[in-house]
Amino acid sequence: MLFTRDLRLDDNPALAAAVAAAHEVVPLFVLDDRLLRRRPRRSTFLKRCLVELDADLRAIGGRLVVRVGDPVAETARVVEEAGADAVHVAADVTPYASRRLERLRTALPRVAVRVWPGVAVVEAGALAPPGRDHYRVFTPYHRAWTNAPWRVPVPAPRSITVPAAISSSPWTVEGMSSIAAGEGAARRHLDRFLHDRLASYAEQRDDLAAGGTSGLSPYLRLGCISALRVALAAGDGPFTRQLAWRDFYGQVLAANPDSLRDDMLPSRSTWEGDLRHLEAWRRGETGVPIVDAGMRQLATEGTMHNRTRMIVASFLTKDLDIHWRFGAQHFDAELIDGDPANNIGGWQWAAGTGVDTRPGRMFNPWLQGERFDGDGTYIRRHVPELADVAARDLHDPRRLAGTLPPGHYPTPIVDHADAARRYRALSR
Ligand SMILES: Cc1cc2nc3c(=O)[nH]c(=O)nc-3n(C[C@H](O)[C@H](O)[C@H](O)COP(=O)(O)OP(=O)(O)OC[C@H]3O[C@@H](n4cnc5c(N)ncnc54)[C@H](O)[C@@H]3O)c2cc1C
Repeated sequence: MLFTRDLRLDDNPALAAAVAAAHEVVPLFVLDDRLLRRRPRRSTFLKRCLVELDADLRAIGGRLVVRVGDPVAETARVVEEAGADAVHVAADVTPYASRRLERLRTALPRVAVRVWPGVAVVEAGALAPPGRDHYRVFTPYHRAWTNAPWRVPVPAPRSITVPAAISSSPWTVEGMSSIAAGEGAARRHLDRFLHDRLASYAEQRDDLAAGGTSGLSPYLRLGCISALRVALAAGDGPFTRQLAWRDFYGQVLAANPDSLRDDMLPSRSTWEGDLRHLEAWRRGETGVPIVDAGMRQLATEGTMHNRTRMIVASFLTKDLDIHWRFGAQHFDAELIDGDPANNIGGWQWAAGTGVDTRPGRMFNPWLQGERFDGDGTYIRRHVPELADVAARDLHDPRRLAGTLPPGHYPTPIVDHADAARRYRALSR
């Protein structure tokens, strides 16, 4: 059983199939240093999740075997050591996962490589509109997704026997994760959300200070909880609709692997922004309070509210005229929940180069701040220089300039009205 981003026992079809098919199973995870090095926060969270997965496997008589190196070479080595006749693995949507699967099949010609669902509620490729192989518009996708027959979740195995001779490589976990790791933590997190916040989700999900969203994305990213279980527990409604967005972007990426780098709609050929502005954006020193609050939340917490993700992405690509790729790379490096399909989907949507029925939309960050952080609680929480500024002054560049002593907080690096005129001219 090759674990990838399905770090759980419950509703894990690949694991259930492996346990059903053999007396002995090697639950294997391969730490690929090339992927981890540039993403320290996600890497710590992942390793903490592996510690928990090991404990959960021990509770049913097994353990996790961890190897370090290239996933294909290490899997092949374990197959050889164990004399395994099959490798079970979850299907995934990234080009990296597709290559891994292809290489596994080439490296193991005499072994059955069995691929199982489990990462999505509805697997990529399962739904398609007439005449196409995937959906590019969310609303009809969501309709089809809601009406599709969902698979039946599979229970966790009750016991597992791991061959004694197969050992782990030495590996270490550096540092603590800022959120509790593992399947048990994910389930408790979900239960709390269902009990305390699901009912008010629609009303609060865009309120930046309220913390009204589930916070489940890191757990979904690594599969500490099954998206299907979450969708079934929450039932139809605005929250579960967001899980459909996750599957939507998954099937978009699976069908468009080049979208990791290339515009899906090549709507613009030049990006003329000043790369010094990119640095100010990264540091949260743009002089636009709501943008800086989002970027500083990212820097300190490794996460950012969905609304501010949209605002800072629109700001980078449309106000600053900087290619979305720079923003997506920064998010990928910093986010605990950094996920190629959702990240690229979100960035290309914000940049107007992706699957969006209104690619020309541009957010006014000042109005967004006023609307979604009216009293300034979120801004003040993340931008201490603005802690004493009254709410009415936070959302207006002229009033803000008038309230602060010189040098206390940056003046805006771009005038939104100018940027909007330029963007409109460009996208005409
Ligand atoms: C520019 C940009 C980049 C993003 N990058 C990522 C990323 O790297 N990883 C990531 O998981 N999400 C990403 N998102 C989507 C979204 O912002 C996060 O999923 C959400 O903020 C996570 O918080 P939550 O779990 O409290 O969400 P909730 O509102 O509680 O939603 C529940 C779950 O639904 C899914 N979901 C919610 N919104 C979206 C969305 N817009 N698109 C796809 N799935 C969604 C997530 O899995 C989320 O955990 C990005 C959005 C934008 C605009």
